[in-house]
Amino acid sequence: MKKLTCSICGAIYLYEEERLIYRDKDEKNCECCGNILISWNGSKIPTRFKLIKEGVKKSNDSFCE
Ligand SMILES: [Zn+2]
Repeated sequence: MKKLTCSICGAIYLYEEERLIYRDKDEKNCECCGNILISWNGSKIPTRFKLIKEGVKKSNDSFCE
């Protein structure tokens, strides 16, 4: 698994990379702050995101739900 940290709120995600037989273009938003965590355009896509550490919103310092 690969690890990804949100640059805005610090949430940490694990994910896996998967190869598709077709090209896909999409992006994954942070579940805590909505920041674009990662975007892809091709046949190798990140999938099965798992939040392992919640982020902290800088606006009010509250943890995401
Ligand atoms: Zn975030």
